[in-house]
Amino acid sequence: MNGLKTIGILGGMSWESTAVYYRRLNQLVQERLGGVASASLLLHSFDFATIERLQHEEEWDQLADVLTSAARGLRSAGADFLLIATNTMHLLADAVADGSGLPVLHIADAAADAVRAGGYSRVGLLGTRFTMERGFYAERISRGAGAECVIPEEQDRVQVHRIIYQELCTGAVLPESRATVAAIIDRLTAAGAQAVILGCTELPLLVRTTDSVLPVLDTTELHVQAAVRRALS
Ligand code: GLU
Repeated sequence: MNGLKTIGILGGMSWESTAVYYRRLNQLVQERLGGVASASLLLHSFDFATIERLQHEEEWDQLADVLTSAARGLRSAGADFLLIATNTMHLLADAVADGSGLPVLHIADAAADAVRAGGYSRVGLLGTRFTMERGFYAERISRGAGAECVIPEEQDRVQVHRIIYQELCTGAVLPESRATVAAIIDRLTAAGAQAVILGCTELPLLVRTTDSVLPVLDTTELHVQAAVRRALS
């Protein structure tokens, strides 16, 4: 063995972004180690229909049990640390880490590192309504980077949430939604944001750097990069 740590992934939330995790983790390990090297990883991929229903029913305790039990499985299969391949479900990151005994590499910490490195003090936050409204994510950015999150207005939050669940998680990447999100980023700019966190792992499938007047912080890519650093450390 080459000393690589084994990454456990809780994925399928949705599989559209988990596919990006799988590809990028392997690509980065191969870039770093060369040849045919690839990531050592274990994936528990959920049926997102079940997860999405429980989210919208606000059954967070049940979701914590579901994720923790899968994380225990990854631990007994040999995972060294855990990636939860969605921003939203980091609402339950502490419960999953405590319940499984596996350290969770937190996606908002990867985002906070990028916020700090960019020297930003006010950053827009786009994601599901859970991520934008529940405070857990913005608090982590504030703690990790000393920056304030600018959250879109209610009607814009509704739009972004709808685009994530009804389009991106079903594989639909629509030009009109790209324009909608670009206009929301314009409004975040007017509200003082200096960069925008794509705080949903599917949003980078829609929003390209060229669609945004602000620097874009892609949490999927930042999470992957942090995971590869850890796997190689
Ligand atoms: N993958 C998304 C996220 O990063 C949304 C889907 C979910 O709620 O898990 O938040």
